[in-house]
Amino acid sequence: MLDPDRTSITQRKKPKCPICGKPTEPTLKPFCSTRCKQVDLNRWLGEAYRIETDEGPEDQMDSVRRSRSDDEDV
Ligand SMILES: [Zn+2]
Repeated sequence: MLDPDRTSITQRKKPKCPICGKPTEPTLKPFCSTRCKQVDLNRWLGEAYRIETDEGPEDQMDSVRRSRSDDEDV
């Protein structure tokens, strides 16, 4: 097995941290630091909580889909 740390592919791609945009730390993929990892985790938890209490865009999309299929039926 090749260590992804040693492959030139990862060095070429240079993945960026989705939180702050800094180069990703191979050991903390896809984040650059444990801090950003925590931030992402909190973000996820926050969004999930919001969707549960609030009517999000997903609900709207669902209603659009329904009316669409209704149209096709008629
Ligand atoms: Zn980061």
